[in-house]
Amino acid sequence: MSKLFKRTKILATIGPAVFSEQKIEELIMAGVNGCRLNFSHGDYTERDQQITWIRQAAAKKGRSVAILQDLQGPKIRLGDIKNNHLDVHAGDELILDNAIKEHDGGNVLPVQYNLAKKVKVGEPLSMFDGKIKSTVSEIVSNTAIKIKVENDGFVMSHKGLNLPDTDFGGDIITEKDMADIEFGASRDFDYVALSFVQSAKDIEKLRQILLSHGSTAHIIAKIETKKAIESDEAMEAIVKATDGIMVARGDMAVEAGAEVVPIVQRKLIAMCREHGKLCIVATQMMSSMVDNPEPTRAEVSDVANAVIQGADAVMLSDETANGKYPVETVKAMKKVILYTQNNSHVSPINHDVTGDYKNYDAIAGGVVSLAEKIDADVILCQTASGATASAIAAQRPKLPIVTVTSNPRVAGQLALTYANSAFVRPYSENYGLELAQELKENGYLQIREGKKDILAVIISGHKDMAGGTDTIHIVRV
Ligand code: ATP
Ligand code: MG
Ligand code: MG
Repeated sequence: MSKLFKRTKILATIGPAVFSEQKIEELIMAGVNGCRLNFSHGDYTERDQQITWIRQAAAKKGRSVAILQDLQGPKIRLGDIKNNHLDVHAGDELILDNAIKEHDGGNVLPVQYNLAKKVKVGEPLSMFDGKIKSTVSEIVSNTAIKIKVENDGFVMSHKGLNLPDTDFGGDIITEKDMADIEFGASRDFDYVALSFVQSAKDIEKLRQILLSHGSTAHIIAKIETKKAIESDEAMEAIVKATDGIMVARGDMAVEAGAEVVPIVQRKLIAMCREHGKLCIVATQMMSSMVDNPEPTRAEVSDVANAVIQGADAVMLSDETANGKYPVETVKAMKKVILYTQNNSHVSPINHDVTGDYKNYDAIAGGVVSLAEKIDADVILCQTASGATASAIAAQRPKLPIVTVTSNPRVAGQLALTYANSAFVRPYSENYGLELAQELKENGYLQIREGKKDILAVIISGHKDMAGGTDTIHIVRV
């Protein structure tokens, strides 16, 4: 079983390319463990449709599939571009105007933010994930600025703008985000991701807002600003404050330079593992598959590296949202994950953790070392909050972690956690053992060749209580 069992999870962005329950079911069967809804695009009607499809498809297939709401944050975007395409050339002068809604095909483009109040002449401005570079050349009016384009290319509707040197000051949670958070709370998402996080304060603020709406969604900090990565201390403060992070390589490369991305990625994954936080690597992992049925060698290598570094999950954006081969991309990604995990070791981490997490790390480290030494088939974790299951996952064991919980929210969240398969069952003292028996009977857990039974290490608390983990059982099933 364990050779076919994918330990690194796949998070797929849901968009027009997979707009049906059938397509979403195909994604899940191909290996998707979580669906990302990007609230920069689409409306609530479309969202509700997608949520229904995801939940129905997951239930039909008996899988836990996490839903992640990605909040736009302070991202500035173009408005509607005529025919969704405008060619631009080096030397062109364009006007970006917040007061207009329609683009007539000319050089005045609608933009969803009033830049005239914030930017200064001479500051760099790029569009479309950094594909089009320009410099601000004039503040034309109270609502419009002029930019001088530096290279040939094109832009499309709603593509993002980056102004790495512009000071926007203050809050990163916008009015649109507030409305989206309220919508999300009523739809019971497992994760909420916040774009353009600058410091731990942003996370604390989001947590207060979520709590005020009664949401227990876990927070993912998208790491993509210069400020968030300006020092190891800055990154670590965010990691400690959040439930998980996303290495948001697209905007990070535009804001801070593409060359910083690989090192930041490696540091962030290690920090998350040291603190038992979820870590997702995102953007362009298989981007050539938007148009081609096979990934490039560099893309395969990129996914393999994330696996070796020990990311919990790898993410697909345009590949599944907008691409020609969404299902093939997931299949290709899964193949790379399986081959890599079965032929490598995850890089070790520093275990000198301090603070609250120390006890979890100690227990989890003991459990994993025990399970590996006795050559167990599975670590079975009874959990109320999911914290013990996450701590065990953070050790990146070679064997599968099966988790049983009475809380469906916890199972949804663990769907993205390394090597975790979570099952929801009503709480009982021995529900771990009962689940192991059930999984043996239905063939999910199989007796290895030359063995007579399944060896499981069960970790539990004596109550269905968060933080109460105190018992390790070794059982033969
Ligand atoms: P971010 O910086 O948050 O990643 P993005 O614009 O790059 O934002 P992605 O989620 O990475 O968006 O998706 C890539 C592209 O897929 C988008 O630019 C958009 O064109 C398309 N897309 C994604 N979701 C949707 C959707 N729900 N409806 C329409 N298009 C979508
Ligand atoms: Mg982004
Ligand atoms: Mg993107």
